[in-house]
Amino acid sequence: MAELAVTIIDVGWGDSIMVESRDDAGDRRFGLIDCNDYERQRTALPFVKRYFERIGRDWQGTAHNFEWVLLTHGHADHARGLKEMMNTFGTTHFWYPKSVASTTYGVLLDFANRSNRVLHHQAVDETKILAAPEVTFHCGMRILWPNFDQIDTENENNNSVVLALTLGQVTIVLTGDAEAENWPQIVGRLPSHTTYLQVPHHGGRNGLFDPNDGTPWLDHLNPRHTRLVMSSHVVPHGHPHPDVVTELSNRRFVSYRTDRNYHLTLSSAGDKVTVGYTHVSGRLPR
Ligand SMILES: [Zn+2]
Repeated sequence: MAELAVTIIDVGWGDSIMVESRDDAGDRRFGLIDCNDYERQRTALPFVKRYFERIGRDWQGTAHNFEWVLLTHGHADHARGLKEMMNTFGTTHFWYPKSVASTTYGVLLDFANRSNRVLHHQAVDETKILAAPEVTFHCGMRILWPNFDQIDTENENNNSVVLALTLGQVTIVLTGDAEAENWPQIVGRLPSHTTYLQVPHHGGRNGLFDPNDGTPWLDHLNPRHTRLVMSSHVVPHGHPHPDVVTELSNRRFVSYRTDRNYHLTLSSAGDKVTVGYTHVSGRLPR
């Protein structure tokens, strides 16, 4: 039975998301979106290492454990740990948005160019097809954002790659920090059966509300069909913003948050989605 599992690792602040796809024959493929680890504080790397060990994968004897690694955009809370992740586990493909030059990109592209841990790398946008035979992954993958040849030179959040993963009737959309002002263009590309959507920008106000206080992606979704997940940043950024929490609950959306639910795993065989998490009791300081 083909299966898809998306784990939003609770990294405290930032994003690191492991994606696993299996085909009917049990062939497992792995993808990774972002990593905020830094030298003195690693969360995602030991998580992935322990996961591979638990499933009996010979990850040290495998040159490219990830089929693909995606950097949504060049901010530290998404990018800082990717070089070490690729160096440790290896990847066949490394994808990133076309973006303004920065030290972050410089370090990652230099690594991708020099190291045999990365076989192939390219900038991606909504016109790129991520499918076999080039990419072996057992679910549909479509990039919804950014547009072809579009770069926001002022706000790197808006270069965030938005990725839709589809298996059967289920679609999970991962959004990076793409702010609400872009969403009128993105919503038309959302599959009608969007099952889970990651609240953009960790629940920050500008992830939900556009400059006129409109809520373009939320208006497009029906709480009976779509649930939400959030890689919250309570410390130090105060994400999700109280206005976002209020709006989501007023509209009766069910949402899961890493600060309350710890590592979140969305699993599906293509019909419904099961959410795996550990409830974290107690309150974090705000
Ligand atoms: Zn972020």
